Amino acid sequence: MRVILLGAPGSGKGTVAEALRSACGYPKISTGDLLREAVREKSALGLVAASQMGKGALVDDATVLALLNERLARDDCRRGCVLDGFPRNLAQAECLDTIGNSGPEIVFDLVVSVDVVLERLANRRTCPRCEAIYHLVAKPPKTPGVCDVCGTALVQRNDDKPEVIRERLKTHAAKTEPLVARYAARGAVHAIDADGPAETVVREVRRIVDAVLGRPDGAGK
Ligand code: ADP
Repeated sequence: MRVILLGAPGSGKGTVAEALRSACGYPKISTGDLLREAVREKSALGLVAASQMGKGALVDDATVLALLNERLARDDCRRGCVLDGFPRNLAQAECLDTIGNSGPEIVFDLVVSVDVVLERLANRRTCPRCEAIYHLVAKPPKTPGVCDVCGTALVQRNDDKPEVIRERLKTHAAKTEPLVARYAARGAVHAIDADGPAETVVREVRRIVDAVLGRPDGAGK
């Protein structure tokens, strides 16, 4: 099975991907996380990516595909995976179609309003080490400023600043949003109201995954 998560920045793709990973065992593959790792390692690829990410633009397809192909080739992706943040434009979607996949493809469109996005991203803090995501109000860490999972000091992502958020939203509307229609034409898209609390969104996504896989509700717990 391959799950593709579409949705604006702050729509909850990372949260849903993490929930599916822990509930169903499918690896969560976030191109944003892969890129941030490359940036931290200061690899040649990471240096190119950093400047594009800082502007709220997409990183070039060759760089993203190099990272993604390497990740998809690992053993844990044999049964399937949850893609968070890929594909993000038409060329990437076409490329993904050529990468072998035997099981069903499920696409979720996480639909969120701009006000909710701005509020969530302003309050978002992330762990620079394990990429765990927190919200200062809705999901605060147990110890303020410290990651529950690995104890690292939490940060606000460079691109979670208001001017960059605006650019990311524009990039999303221009490049990624059109993919919804492309996948809808195949009948693969499930639109999810993603303005509500994470638990509600995750429950709905899991219900659909279970239905597509033919499992009774909750059997994948
Ligand atoms: P969000 O979905 O909240 O914007 P991500 O962590 O998915 O956060 O992405 C952060 C940044 O990484 C994007 O703004 C973009 O610059 C880059 N990026 C992530 N995935 C891709 C991709 N598939 N193609 C190009 N750039 C990407």
